[in-house]
Amino acid sequence: MGDPADLAAILSSWAPPALTLAAASIALALMLRFAIPRGRKRPVRGKVLLRALLPARIVRSASGRADIAWFLFGVLFSASALGWALWSSEWFAGHILQGLDALFGSPAPIAVPAWIAGTVMTLALFLAYEFAYWLNHSLSHRVGWMWEFHKVHHTAESLTPLTNFRVHPVDTILFFNMAAASAGIAMALVHFAFGRGGGGFLIHGTNALTFLATILFSYLQHSHLWISLPGRAGRWLLSPAHHQIHHSVEERHHDRNFGSTLAIFDRLFGTLHLPAAKRERLRFGVDGIAYDPHGPAGALVMPFADAARRIAQDFDATKKRGPAPERPLQSLRENA
Ligand SMILES: [Zn+2]
Ligand SMILES: [Zn+2]
Repeated sequence: MGDPADLAAILSSWAPPALTLAAASIALALMLRFAIPRGRKRPVRGKVLLRALLPARIVRSASGRADIAWFLFGVLFSASALGWALWSSEWFAGHILQGLDALFGSPAPIAVPAWIAGTVMTLALFLAYEFAYWLNHSLSHRVGWMWEFHKVHHTAESLTPLTNFRVHPVDTILFFNMAAASAGIAMALVHFAFGRGGGGFLIHGTNALTFLATILFSYLQHSHLWISLPGRAGRWLLSPAHHQIHHSVEERHHDRNFGSTLAIFDRLFGTLHLPAAKRERLRFGVDGIAYDPHGPAGALVMPFADAARRIAQDFDATKKRGPAPERPLQSLRENA
């Protein structure tokens, strides 16, 4: 187990306050660029701006109000949420290094200048984060009980940057632990190859590449504006429009675009769906939920009951079928 103080430091390094502020302001600037029609002659008044960024129809809807509540919940509880990750990447890295040493008898590290080892570490940790995001997200759509917690995020019927915060705490805990494991594996392999000293390059205490990705992409991942990277660029990077497709209720869009910033893992595993350059009319949400998914009970408590039901169903099916639990990786969204 990692020391709780270390955990908080490592996890908060993914989203320190300075980064959050910088990212939020860049996201705002980008949204303004898309929200205000080009060639507008008259100066834009504050009220008009606010309406463009957070349209009244979204703020007044049950889904939009729930996102505001999730945002406040996130701000109030984020400090304790950080402690919910059970293991740190250092904890994983330490154990994996011990295993590698036991297997290969600690060979001499490859001698390279420190900047090369630093660059490899920076890249490895960024890729590890992106892979953990893809893997955790794709499992959240394919494993019944995980979907019941992730479903909370998908019940949003409109997407704004506040939807970033609409994540069930269990979903957050699962992701943090998977990200810590993935970063730990990457860290151990780089240390094993290039020696134990040194880490990756940091900006504001955050992995430099993760910092840039967060500033330029993460805060805009959810946006009601169609900001699209179609064509070749969209095969490398995931735009907000890619993520709107991920949220679409249309069946052909289900289980597509699981990644965070890079499209490479979606491409590699065949889950990439390119958005069009021009706005596609999409509907968001999850159909067939028997309770109000925007209220506190529906959002926080019911997922536990739904997940328990899923586990019981899977257990019954396994008992009837015998020990052949090879489930096809089918979408869970149709029978939410
Ligand atoms: Zn999802
Ligand atoms: Zn989303």
